[in-house]
Amino acid sequence: MPMIYKLLPMQTIISQVTTGAHTTLRLFSRQLNLSSLRFSSSKATLKPKSPPTKMVDYRLMHIIRDIPTLRTHRRNLLRSNLTVGLVPTMGALHEGHISLVRAAAAENARVFVSIYINPTQFGVSEDLSTYPQTWESDLAQLRALDAELAETPGMGRVDTVFAPSTKAMYPTLPPDSREDGVGSFVQITPVGGILEGKSRPVFFRGVATVCMKLFNLVQAERVYFGQKDVQQTVVIRRMVKDFHLDTQVMIVPTSREEDGLAMSSRNVYLGARRRAVGVVLSRALRAAEEAYVAGKRSRDEILAAAWNVANQVALEQDALAPEQRALFEVDYISLADPDTMEEIEAVDERKGAVLSGAVKMLPLEQIQPGEVLGQGGDVAPVRLIDNIPLEPR
Ligand code: AMP
Repeated sequence: MPMIYKLLPMQTIISQVTTGAHTTLRLFSRQLNLSSLRFSSSKATLKPKSPPTKMVDYRLMHIIRDIPTLRTHRRNLLRSNLTVGLVPTMGALHEGHISLVRAAAAENARVFVSIYINPTQFGVSEDLSTYPQTWESDLAQLRALDAELAETPGMGRVDTVFAPSTKAMYPTLPPDSREDGVGSFVQITPVGGILEGKSRPVFFRGVATVCMKLFNLVQAERVYFGQKDVQQTVVIRRMVKDFHLDTQVMIVPTSREEDGLAMSSRNVYLGARRRAVGVVLSRALRAAEEAYVAGKRSRDEILAAAWNVANQVALEQDALAPEQRALFEVDYISLADPDTMEEIEAVDERKGAVLSGAVKMLPLEQIQPGEVLGQGGDVAPVRLIDNIPLEPR
């Protein structure tokens, strides 16, 4: 179709092309430099001297909610020889999630992001019903990233957001979160039962089960997980190996706030006071890492550095008045083998180790007038986790 450019107030001309199930917005970026246009007549109709210099392909992301559509779409990509990277999430996306999508786009032609709050990984008394949901913002972030990727040579695209219903994900029985609950589950032991698994007994069973479902559905060449949830990465790697799943598990470093707090969807529960004290965990782990870097290898020496920080902050908070303090409890601080997450007495420097920890930020005892509160009003405890890999030396 011949294109005639008329004098337009904008610098862009957008045409919409529909090809089968896929709608594509093509945006022809043009520097409308008047010297590159010639007037064809006194009617001021402009024609370009040369065709558009740059064509950027702004596809609309597929938003898929049902399994047959997902499978058909995946099959089409396979026929086109396009590789797929999967980023499983529970939504409430932040920079940490986006870094996973970016990593996936660097290594795959198409990225699928799943957004699904999986009920079976929440214990019966956990925050399933209040877990943050920010669907519009999630889509906006993914679209913005995709627009950026479209302009970056060599990068893949954010192709699909898979947001299934629970009925689709658990087709036979309603999901059951009780420890002795019934259903079809994947259980990875012993790693799923220690550390986080001790505090949250159904958590890794739920994670492994939903990831097995997602991996079966998406058939991705690569799956992307955050270092932030280190024990989860060990569980997933083990599952992929033991069940011969044909995918590669890729781990992306932890994204942090400026003061070191690991980004997390649950940080929205922290008002200003608990947020400020919540950085204690990353500070404690950082101190232990420094001990390792300084040459310490024994468990006692490395973990003492972490406990010194945690105890110091706890004492400072204890000394404050109830309307000023944010109390917390350390659930655990661990020095573990990176392949099994089992506790070790000393770091084998050829293998390295994982420092990890969890703290429970307790509800505020007294709220001050005008105080900046988190989602939910800082009345429920919030569990924060973090880790630092100690690299082999
Ligand atoms: P979630 O939505 O919390 O289940 O997380 C989805 C994925 O994002 C998991 O693989 C997490 O490990 C990863 N993730 C969450 N927070 C971060 C972060 N701060 N840095 C890197 N990855 C993260």
